[in-house]
Amino acid sequence: MPNLAAYCQTELAALDAAKLRRQLRGAAEGLVSFADNDYLGLARDARVIAAGQAALAEYGAGAMASRLVTGNHPLYAPLEAKLAAMKGTQAALVFGSGYLANLGIIPALVGAGDVVFADKLAHACMLDGAQLSGAKLMRFAHNDMAHLQALLTKHRGEFKHALIATEHVFSMDGDVAPLAEIAAMARTHDAWTLVDDAHGLGVVKPEAAEIDVWMGTLSKAAGAYGGYACAAQAVIDVLVNKARSMVFSTGLPPSVCASALAALEVMEVEPERGERALAHARCVTDSLGLPLAQSAIVPIIMGTPERALEASEFLRQRGLLVVAIRPPTVPPGTARLRLAFSSTHTGAQVEQLIAALKDLPA
Ligand SMILES: *Cc1c(COP(=O)(O)O)cnc(C)c1O
Repeated sequence: MPNLAAYCQTELAALDAAKLRRQLRGAAEGLVSFADNDYLGLARDARVIAAGQAALAEYGAGAMASRLVTGNHPLYAPLEAKLAAMKGTQAALVFGSGYLANLGIIPALVGAGDVVFADKLAHACMLDGAQLSGAKLMRFAHNDMAHLQALLTKHRGEFKHALIATEHVFSMDGDVAPLAEIAAMARTHDAWTLVDDAHGLGVVKPEAAEIDVWMGTLSKAAGAYGGYACAAQAVIDVLVNKARSMVFSTGLPPSVCASALAALEVMEVEPERGERALAHARCVTDSLGLPLAQSAIVPIIMGTPERALEASEFLRQRGLLVVAIRPPTVPPGTARLRLAFSSTHTGAQVEQLIAALKDLPA
């Protein structure tokens, strides 16, 4: 048996050979970034920073304990009230991150003998949460309501509880789930719904639909950090008792909650930020003859990891930071460039990107 380091060397060699090895790089300096998720430019907003600084001075650097012990500092309540109001639910619960939220929510609501129907492209943390729960995981083809319907009709009866899990705006495709149809199907088949709004919040207003649990992150359009669930009070109370990723983990630093709350407030009074990010995305899809962008995310499918990496490098030479997204983040054969637009991009920067994309070597 090889020692651990030798074993890892062979694992890395295999990733290298498949052009799938990933490396942590320093944040790119001097490039115009179309790669991060700060859709509204709030991570560097003066009001968001000042709110964090004030909380840091008043409450200190950390929460010092799990929320159920002594970590439930006074900044949680207004943040959760704001989230519940924005999502139109009775209550909300903040988690350490979006990933931790799904890892906590799903096993708190379903378990052995239950079933989770998840969109084929649902984020890894929904799949991980489903796996952790011990419920049976069934995947439906992306946004394919006929397939979901068929799975529900065939299998719903075999299980006690059923949860349908999907994203509002899909993180690597930028398209939108048919939430009203999903909610209606859930009602017909006695299933619950969980929708991940990580990439919609502040940018794309969801269509009206009765969703049982909205979840999302405070690390993207809200510019800070943390995850959340919004639902009926009884659901939130069960999460407080059973979501292990919240119960057994230290609360968020107060400054992070303060920054997130300030960002949500800006988001609400300045809706033009989200509209501007969306307009940039649509300008690019228009210019390149791609399907009209439905969110601030636009994928350019390149196929192989090599092609995606080459295209990313080409754009880097032109002063643009656009990441290549490769399997396993996306399905094999669909390696892509993922463009993410922000309200802070200028029209000139977007034009620069369009020109470079038109020059991409075939
Ligand atoms: C980023 C992301 C998450 C995870 O949120 P973090 O706060 O970064 O852990 C969850 N779901 C989706 C769809 C995401 O894109």
